[in-house]
Amino acid sequence: MNKDNADNLTGENVIYWAKRAYGAKMVPGTSGNISVLEGDKVLLSASGVCLGDMELKDIAILNIDGENLNNIKPSSEKLMHLEIYKKRPDIKAIIHIHCPYATSFAVCHKEMNEPILPEFIYNFGTAQTGTDDNKAQRGVPSAKYALPSSFELAEEVSNYFRDGNNAVLMENHGLVAGAASLKQTFYILESIQAYAKTYFAAKFLGEIHKLNEEEILKIKNLKG
Ligand code: 13P
Ligand code: ZN
Repeated sequence: MNKDNADNLTGENVIYWAKRAYGAKMVPGTSGNISVLEGDKVLLSASGVCLGDMELKDIAILNIDGENLNNIKPSSEKLMHLEIYKKRPDIKAIIHIHCPYATSFAVCHKEMNEPILPEFIYNFGTAQTGTDDNKAQRGVPSAKYALPSSFELAEEVSNYFRDGNNAVLMENHGLVAGAASLKQTFYILESIQAYAKTYFAAKFLGEIHKLNEEEILKIKNLKG
């Protein structure tokens, strides 16, 4: 199976990437959820399932208005998935995780925006970059805490996606990312997870050296 194909938004592919997320320690226990938008249908993990053990019977099928089409109880975060798809038509795959390192930032209400790693700056920007027209280039933002599963949380989070962000921390909860395919979404999460781990290890090891504005600009200019 070609896991790289954005068109390949099937149940099998959802299961493959759910297991990758579990294997990468992004979704301990029964935390997290995963979905794709296939045509006008959303395939979403069932509520309470461990993503590492997911099977086809654990995929709920909904229409974009949230109507359940196969009687499988969908993730409690279905409103968040639906709101992101509604606000960002280019996004076809979403994964929500509780990775402890990234979640620590969310617990400390700390956004991920320090200029420490060129790859991260290139993909997400830093506190120094980004303009009002391009809010998505200020690092990974943090959405205000709201009750898990609530419409308030769905609104808070999806508004960042509306502004162009492809990954958003959720205060005192976790992280969610979306892209045109599950593979791209997974890579976004892995890269953020790596930033979080590197940050922790570096803080423990010594003084963190931030790249200066000139270096940040050179990295931004790599985009052409
Ligand atoms: P679900 O099992 O209902 O998807 O809940 C997991 C979760 O992470 C809620 O935020
Ligand atoms: Zn969650």
